[in-house]
Amino acid sequence: MNDKPHINNLPKVRGEYKFFEPLKGYTWLNVGGPADVMFFPADEDDLRDFLRQKDKNIPLFVLGGGSNLLVRDGGLNGAVIKLKAPSFARYRIENDILYCGAGCTNFSLKKIIAENGLGGLEFLCSIPGTTGGAVRGNAGCFGSDMAKVVAAVKVMSADGKVRTLKNAECGFSYRRSNFGDNDIILEVGLRFEHKDPAAVAEIIEQNAEYRRTHQPQGIKTAGSTFKNPEGMAAWKLIKEAGGDTMVCGKAKMSAQHCNFLHNEGNSAADIEKLCDSIVAAVKQKSGVTLEREVKIVGREQNNGRS
Ligand SMILES: Cc1cc2nc3c(=O)[nH]c(=O)nc-3n(C[C@H](O)[C@H](O)[C@H](O)COP(=O)(O)OP(=O)(O)OC[C@H]3O[C@@H](n4cnc5c(N)ncnc54)[C@H](O)[C@@H]3O)c2cc1C
Repeated sequence: MNDKPHINNLPKVRGEYKFFEPLKGYTWLNVGGPADVMFFPADEDDLRDFLRQKDKNIPLFVLGGGSNLLVRDGGLNGAVIKLKAPSFARYRIENDILYCGAGCTNFSLKKIIAENGLGGLEFLCSIPGTTGGAVRGNAGCFGSDMAKVVAAVKVMSADGKVRTLKNAECGFSYRRSNFGDNDIILEVGLRFEHKDPAAVAEIIEQNAEYRRTHQPQGIKTAGSTFKNPEGMAAWKLIKEAGGDTMVCGKAKMSAQHCNFLHNEGNSAADIEKLCDSIVAAVKQKSGVTLEREVKIVGREQNNGRS
């Protein structure tokens, strides 16, 4: 038993619960306090039964690869769902659509996209995280994004009902979709063009090489911290405002790419403070209000913001 009454009576499941699990190890920025409870469903039916039987007041949060998240130091309220079981990482090709479980990492799709010559999906192989997370945030790079390739998204809502949405129903725009915290993306259908596998493999390698030479490697980061305002580059605005040399505790911006945050410490609060300072400096210098691309979730250590 624990001191959170709403998580004392969780339904019996076939998957696994972890109570007060620190989220630091599940995020690329490598910070974040504990989840009240983490649930790793065994499969779709297990997830549905959990959702139908749990106390309706328990908030939900779906964690993908944690590559676009800053979890605050006080951790997350409620249940954090992680689609880790093999049944959430299956894929199949039907005609010109690649269906993949939302728990598939984009990196793991590299082999199947290259070997089968699935043209148009090359960009995805270089984006950290899962296909579920990529759909939720309409991830993109190298001139493409999920909005351009998604054919269908299978999603479970908080009441356990499953529906399949077509691209036009997903509400995609720049790094956004209509999916909310109570929508659990289960499977993603991605439309491709049949191409020569060698040509596809070459594009994947060129993209990887571009990242190796233009973006910081091996640091604790969440990629682009701020969205590019219409017609402008966030990194340029940050540099002009002196944000590239700002430091908060052990959080700073990467010397190689000043829109990439570089965390060398253990404090989500420092990272958030740095983001706030950069937004203020850019606003003062250029009048532009930067919008964060990184999603901040959770409660502060002393139960301040959440
Ligand atoms: C080095 C680096 C480079 C990057 N480069 C790019 C880039 O080029 N382009 C780009 O767009 N992004 C980039 N990113 C950011 C990040 O990789 C993407 O935003 C990615 O799509 C996030 O996916 P994730 O699975 O890690 O999601 P998470 O970070 O775990 O979660 C992000 C959001 O998605 C939701 N979510 C995750 N899974 C599901 C699901 N199954 N159902 C419903 N909601 C879900 C979460 O609740 C959260 O709201 C980069 C990040 C890093 C660290």
